[in-house]
Amino acid sequence: MQNYFIMETEKTSYYFETYGCQMNFAESDALKITLNDRGWSETDNVENALLLVINTCSVRETAERRVFGRLAHYTALKKERRRRQNPLFVLVCGCMASRLGGKLIKNGADFVMETQNNSIFTGILEKIEAIRNESRTPQSTLQTILQSSPHKTLSNETLHDEDPDKTLYNKNSRHFSFAPIHHKEGSFRAFVPIMHGCDNFCSYCIVPYTRGREICRDPAEIVAEIKTLADRGVREITLLGQNVNSYINGKIDFPALLEIIARETEGTTIKRARFLSSHPKDLSLRTIQVMAKHPVFCRHLHLCVQHGSNRILSAMNRRYTRESFIELTAAIRAAMPEITLSTDILVGFPGETEEDFEEALTLMERIRFLYSYMYHYNPREGTAAFDLPERVPPEIKTSRLKRVIDLQMRHTAELLQSRIGDSEKALVDGISHKNSKELVCRTEHDEMIVAEGDTSLIGTIAAIQIDGLSGNTLRGHFIKDI
Ligand code: SF4
Repeated sequence: MQNYFIMETEKTSYYFETYGCQMNFAESDALKITLNDRGWSETDNVENALLLVINTCSVRETAERRVFGRLAHYTALKKERRRRQNPLFVLVCGCMASRLGGKLIKNGADFVMETQNNSIFTGILEKIEAIRNESRTPQSTLQTILQSSPHKTLSNETLHDEDPDKTLYNKNSRHFSFAPIHHKEGSFRAFVPIMHGCDNFCSYCIVPYTRGREICRDPAEIVAEIKTLADRGVREITLLGQNVNSYINGKIDFPALLEIIARETEGTTIKRARFLSSHPKDLSLRTIQVMAKHPVFCRHLHLCVQHGSNRILSAMNRRYTRESFIELTAAIRAAMPEITLSTDILVGFPGETEEDFEEALTLMERIRFLYSYMYHYNPREGTAAFDLPERVPPEIKTSRLKRVIDLQMRHTAELLQSRIGDSEKALVDGISHKNSKELVCRTEHDEMIVAEGDTSLIGTIAAIQIDGLSGNTLRGHFIKDI
């Protein structure tokens, strides 16, 4: 019979690894709040932890491979810890948990939590705490505790027996719930998830299969979270969702929600609001009007175009055209001339010809994004595009990706260069890692500025004169006002 001796430091310690999008980071922060409320505390050394949580991303195969690598590493650590009679419990959550379930248990996870749901998470913690509180739990008891789980997501056997479609259905309707607060205390910025999942089924994307259908959060809950953030002195909020523009809850659609947020933030510490991600087919003229009307909404939009060829946009199931995207950005710029735009670009989609690719480049030339997240296509099993013929050879994908990166670097440099001589207000984030005399600030246009200044400025929105550019970072000095 195996006995566990849990060291005092490990009794309350957890360690987190988070991969992927801002939504994952926001959800990790919410899980940490649940842990902290139960008396746990975060450690930056997994050796001191009783619980390791890996919040995963499935968007790219490389992200999944990385997590399997981490699991192999932690399986070895778990063995070593077991030899020392000090258990380490590994919980995997996020998109890989939804997609791969039992396979993760086979690869070293003790718990797999498919969706963010506080009652499931609490159930897992209760099991671990039962062991922790005993401090000396025979292996046989541990097995009994794990197998007596009332949650399907906790059992290896159940996951194997699940009908995948039924699991998907369960994810959408039964399990997911928004945490009441996602804020890391002390931070001047906060994420506020407003929806979860996606109904768009872009043909290359795994997200609708891992996160499930769209669920829109109750506006009253969103307002309650924002009020808490204002009480805590937060300066900037970012509304999060896979496709925020399609938010709808009862009669409240996305522009109506923005109106509510403008009203609720007025006269509070929250001076800036952003939202991510925007889908060009769903960003309405009303949304643009509401943004333009309320200065709390930052003059920056991340609007994922993905490609510039109508043939490829259609194959990607994006449901807008190059022409409608150009019209949309013209309307945005007409309403808010000072706005900056950023985007995602995906090259090397099956069937992409040199002419198609050139259209991506000409669209970039036409719009001139401040920055882009650029990728080449890699097939994801389970998505509609997985079986498409005419895959682009790897060397061509790589060379096209390099060409879009080069073009974007030129645009970024030119746009930032044109800012030298301007003065701008920016939120002072903290001390630069490179030079402790300098403070790092971010403008509402999503530009980074560093300037020498007193640490008392951290957390304020300060006026800065822009003097120069180094790399993609603007340099400046603080001024009294603009
Ligand atoms: S909008 Fe498309 S790319 Fe974005 S999450 Fe939904 S399916 Fe994926």
